[in-house]
Amino acid sequence: MARLKKLASLLLAAALCIPLAGCEKKPEAAQRTVLAMDTVMNLTVYGEDEDAAQEAVSLINAWIVELEGEFSATKEDSPVWTLNRTGKVELDVDAHLPLLLEQTLDLCQVTGGTLDITAYPAVQAWGFTTGEYRVPDEAELAALAANIDWSALEMDEFAIRLPEGVEIDLGAVAKGYAGDVLAQGLTEMGISSALLDLGQSSILAVGAKPDGTPWRIGVQDPAGDGYLGVLELTDQAMGTSGSYQRYFEQDGVRYCHIIDPKTAAPAQSGLASVTVVAPSCLLCDGLSTALFVMGLEEGVDFWRSAQSDPNLAFEAIFIEDNGAISVTSGLKDAFALAEGYTDREVTVLE
Ligand code: AMP
Ligand code: MG
Repeated sequence: MARLKKLASLLLAAALCIPLAGCEKKPEAAQRTVLAMDTVMNLTVYGEDEDAAQEAVSLINAWIVELEGEFSATKEDSPVWTLNRTGKVELDVDAHLPLLLEQTLDLCQVTGGTLDITAYPAVQAWGFTTGEYRVPDEAELAALAANIDWSALEMDEFAIRLPEGVEIDLGAVAKGYAGDVLAQGLTEMGISSALLDLGQSSILAVGAKPDGTPWRIGVQDPAGDGYLGVLELTDQAMGTSGSYQRYFEQDGVRYCHIIDPKTAAPAQSGLASVTVVAPSCLLCDGLSTALFVMGLEEGVDFWRSAQSDPNLAFEAIFIEDNGAISVTSGLKDAFALAEGYTDREVTVLE
């Protein structure tokens, strides 16, 4: 990371150069598609010229690869892989893992354990890591649920430890954390306009579009291929968790990749998707997973109680299995139904 930081300060110096009078340049875009963290990411960055935009996009591409190497549960010898295998991992001084875990464990707590990174053995038992799907029996599920407990993770400045039988995966939060790191890096480079689409579960709008209008992001119809609505975002993140993103079907039942930590079985809360909007991408990513487990009623109560906490406040779009759409009051103006969906009713939650 030290080498990357040096490059970042060079870019920052370049970005701070004030254009000569009469030579003002139009911002130029650089776009890049990156396959990382099990998803297709689309990065769009505007710089003061094409070289600056390309350099910035290359730099954040390198950061994504580095963060993936640290957070992956499946890449051999990654810190998370080692922790799961041996119950202990020692930390490098510049490791991101403790920073991610600190914020994530707070979220596990405030969401009442509906977000729980120790659901990993259940994720594996259902076949979501291999694609060899199966439905575990009740006894197996009870044994798995008994070992899901985020508070069992111990961390100090040197090492992280897990008890026997407990494993973590950061699939619910890693892209969100990465989004926050990348956005901060871009801002430090003087980039004021970028859209980081790290896969549907985490999208980050840095500033507005170069013409000053908000970024417009499609909200996927969980029951179809298209976009059901459009969200306008400026300097905000959004994250979506949905049962359409990864699932299998057996005997007419859909089993999705989001586990209810209480039962160790895929969540069936009546929600088809939840989209969260907040300043922090990690908050959006973590909360969208948690709210999906909670379901509409509990999720709306959580939204109301979170509003008074500046570190937790968020807005959300809930789409139920029956297609009903509800948006929290703060998104009333930012969300609009897309063409083909304008006959759908949208309930505004107060
Ligand atoms: P997301 O797509 O952000 O909602 O995250 C879902 C991913 O996080 C899954 O693919 C699992 O790897 C993991 N996961 C599943 N259920 C949970 C849960 N309740 N809490 C934390 N992580 C989970
Ligand atoms: Mg998530």
